[in-house]
Amino acid sequence: MSENQRPNFASRANELTIEGRAFINGQFVPAASGKTFKTVNPANGKILADVAEGDVEDVNRAVAAAKAAFEDGRWAKMAPKERKRALLRLADLVEANIEELALLESLDNGKPVDDALAADLPDCIESLRWHAEAIDKLYDQVSPTPGDIVSLVVREPIGVVGAVIPWNFPLAIIAMKVGPVLAGGNSIVIKPAEQTPLTAIRFAELVAEAGIPPGVVNVVPGFGETAGQALGRHMDVDCLTFTGSTEVGRYFLKYAAESNLKRVILELGGKSPAIVMDDVTDFGPVVEQLAMGILFSQGENCSAGSRLLVQEGIKDKLLSAVVEHFRTWRVGDPLAAGTKVGALIEEKHMHRILDYIESGKQEGGRIILGGNRVLQETGGFFVEPTVFDNVNNSMKIAREEIFGPVLSTIPFRTVEEAIQIANDTPYGLAASLYTNNLHTAHKVSRAIRAGTVSVNCFSEGDQSVPFGGFKQSGFGGREKSFLAHDQYSQVKTIWMQLR
Ligand code: NAD
Repeated sequence: MSENQRPNFASRANELTIEGRAFINGQFVPAASGKTFKTVNPANGKILADVAEGDVEDVNRAVAAAKAAFEDGRWAKMAPKERKRALLRLADLVEANIEELALLESLDNGKPVDDALAADLPDCIESLRWHAEAIDKLYDQVSPTPGDIVSLVVREPIGVVGAVIPWNFPLAIIAMKVGPVLAGGNSIVIKPAEQTPLTAIRFAELVAEAGIPPGVVNVVPGFGETAGQALGRHMDVDCLTFTGSTEVGRYFLKYAAESNLKRVILELGGKSPAIVMDDVTDFGPVVEQLAMGILFSQGENCSAGSRLLVQEGIKDKLLSAVVEHFRTWRVGDPLAAGTKVGALIEEKHMHRILDYIESGKQEGGRIILGGNRVLQETGGFFVEPTVFDNVNNSMKIAREEIFGPVLSTIPFRTVEEAIQIANDTPYGLAASLYTNNLHTAHKVSRAIRAGTVSVNCFSEGDQSVPFGGFKQSGFGGREKSFLAHDQYSQVKTIWMQLR
């Protein structure tokens, strides 16, 4: 978008009317308790809006609405092509309101509005469209039984889905779940992260405008330990889909075990390696991808390439190119043109990142770029792109998910050693590899225990390919692609004796 086509987001922000109520059974309602909480703009520390603080009572109401909608078939039994049209209308409405939604996402999360416009929102629209298009193109099966019997293997919706959402890509992750959940004929209760409830609430308004019946999509803002736990433990929630930290993900398995054994799907954290082999000759494209991997979204990205594994012979040369390129990623006001690194989600999280930087120094890591809080005068929570050299894989900054713009460099000698270090982590979400050697590309991509391996790129791809984690990065299923439909459906076998 050229500078003169670009909206004046700062003045648009002043004109926004922000809805903060919950959306239950097609209506905006305050929390049953009347309580609210405040959501803050991380770029200046100022309060954006008061939001309904949903709790057990609100979750009960939302689940009851979702269950009633599911049981009377107002959505599940609607003709597939009608359901498809409604979901496509929703995608069109998101697209028609793309600038407002991107602005709201940026204000609530701190990410550059241009990233929300170029990545989060297109991703959201695409998730809705891709799964909508699939609705009337998926067939069930007839199994090869003897002639006097017919056996049908059919997919049926699982019922009421609870979705607990993180703050890093709020609307994109909601759509990643709403697309296949609604395509399958289910109802959903969404609990957005307490830091970023605003786009979820605005999205609910568009759901109603698209003509999706009341009760099919509900949004209950609130805190994890209250509203999130209530959804996880609810006896009428048939499936709980969660994206967030591994630590919180574990709770949902416990909640399910202690309630109704609901299906649980977990998309969790990561500590992904970016491996650079010494056969790489052109560092230009590599450093661009490395920057995308760790600086995009302020590093608050589950599949961030946070461990740079580099073959010894090229380490110093590569690191000079990394530092030079990372300096071009401007930290600043998320609404300003040219900002590439926005504000971190909240003050507590910023301090957590600064503590990791301190621990990296204490353990012998050497900072070659950044390492500090910046723009403190704005009242916002900014940390500059930071690169560590001299890291080994047993240091805390190499083992734990920092979730910020901090890259840790770990040298290796051989391909085998690179594979060993890459896999020496409890996580297994993603990995990227840079090489000119086809043999190395095959060998490493097959040997890495991660859900997505990208060679000579950093990307999570397209709606058509599955996304999810190995090891402690995921549990129970895959987002995107037709595998996402499997998560939100049940298989039924029907036998019919023919006489
Ligand atoms: P988080 O786990 O702190 O919170 C996620 C959600 O869980 C929020 O809605 C929160 O309110 C809720 N929650 C918190 N405590 C709860 C509890 N005790 N019971 C029930 N619900 C509870 O995660 P976050 O800080 O919002 O997001 C960052 C994390 O998400 C990172 O670890 C990141 O890697 C992960 N993530 C993973 C993916 C993926 O697809 N694998 C995508 C994005 C983010």
